[in-house]
Amino acid sequence: MEPAGYRGRHKVLIMKCPEYDPAAISRIIRRGMDILGAKPSGKVLAKPNAVLAHADVFPHAFTRKEFLEGVLSAVRDCGTVIEELAVGERSGITIPTRFSFRNAGYPEVLRKNRARAYYFDECRQVPLRLTKKGSLHKVIFVAKPVLDCDFFINLPKLKAHPWTRMTAALKNLIGIQDDRHRLIDHNSFLEHKIADLQEAIPPGLIAVDAIIAGQKMMLTPTPFHIGAVVLGLNACAVDTVCSHMIHLRSDDVVHLRLASERGHGPRRLEEIELLGDYPLEEVREKTKGFQFCMERIDRYFTPPANLSCTVGSFPEECSREYCWGGCPGALQEAMHIFRGYDPDVDNKMKKVRFVVGNVRGPLDLQPDERVLFAGDCTAWEGFLDGSKVTIQSTYKRNAEEEVTETKSNDMLLKLTGALWHCFRRRSSRFLHVKGCPVSVAQHVSYLSSLGKIGNPNFDRRMVLPVTLAYWQMRAHRLWNRFFG
Ligand code: SF4
Repeated sequence: MEPAGYRGRHKVLIMKCPEYDPAAISRIIRRGMDILGAKPSGKVLAKPNAVLAHADVFPHAFTRKEFLEGVLSAVRDCGTVIEELAVGERSGITIPTRFSFRNAGYPEVLRKNRARAYYFDECRQVPLRLTKKGSLHKVIFVAKPVLDCDFFINLPKLKAHPWTRMTAALKNLIGIQDDRHRLIDHNSFLEHKIADLQEAIPPGLIAVDAIIAGQKMMLTPTPFHIGAVVLGLNACAVDTVCSHMIHLRSDDVVHLRLASERGHGPRRLEEIELLGDYPLEEVREKTKGFQFCMERIDRYFTPPANLSCTVGSFPEECSREYCWGGCPGALQEAMHIFRGYDPDVDNKMKKVRFVVGNVRGPLDLQPDERVLFAGDCTAWEGFLDGSKVTIQSTYKRNAEEEVTETKSNDMLLKLTGALWHCFRRRSSRFLHVKGCPVSVAQHVSYLSSLGKIGNPNFDRRMVLPVTLAYWQMRAHRLWNRFFG
């Protein structure tokens, strides 16, 4: 019988799981479902974190296929009536999701467990009216299968995050929107956006892949073996436990605080009943030294490296000093992608000054240094090579825009647009890239052109499979627009 003091608390389990063994993971999930009383039935949709997957270049960014297999087989074995078992996601940086699924090894797991894939970049996006006080918008758009499902299984990977400190259950929902909607509020309001998305999710289960967690970056994390699976029914409760597992105060994870304040769940350990065979203190002992990378870019990229940054002030009251969810973090992720290809890229690239925000005063450039003014909010006035240059802010608060007025953010258009822009301005000292945010993918293209470094988009391991996946995605999206 449940002790009286635990009544009403959210249950969260931390289970030991030293390796990626699908059978062991399946047993853990089944046990977790029994304890939590989770009964998947009807249309069941699992949402892993497949932000980006590649065995060589991005091996630790995504929920592992063994983990997915363990979960799907547990659902198949749980004895309830499953009308449809599906796995859905929208990968990051505009790469087609079917490319990431293939690289993550998901298709064989789906076949084995008679599950179908929903690539959210190919699905219809449908409106959802938000009702919670404090929401940024009245209506947001999410992939149709998310609203259609009866039971949602959230399968995040536990990672540090350079923009939001941590990513687990709450942040994993960024992948339920296509690119048109994903980049809305992906700026100073990113943490608010994550809180908004929580309203889209029907009841279900959360199982966090914390077997090998990720440190520092989200696309190119440094692996850290924790050997744990975290299970729960409430995303705030699960993220509260995850934050303590890696020595964060739950109040410092802003989207967790916001989601909790809007009534989505607890953010205090006292409100959670901790269960499982892996005591939190033992986990914390193991994760001493777990690393984060919440660093401003003007402190992160410093001489003698050839990329340096000038950061001004930002337009929103909630984040005057720094825009954690937008262009600066995208630059950081882009540079880490380059480092994945060449660890010495910071020294090999040509000199580039990255300028973001409202900046006053001279830039004090070196003779051969080119300038990348990034983002709609960026403003600067001064002289470059004796000529007056005025960069004006065109920032418009996303929260004041209708979310129906969206830009396509198409991968190919962005890539060709960036290459053409760089070509047209090839003899100019500076470029101004518009957008709020300027995405990671755009940063990659601009940095490669200005810094004269290889563009990963043209890496031979990526170019053909990504192109093929892109055209498949376009064809399916067109089909789904009329018949989906
Ligand atoms: S333009 Fe970039 S840096 Fe400026 S507010 Fe938007 S996302 Fe942030």
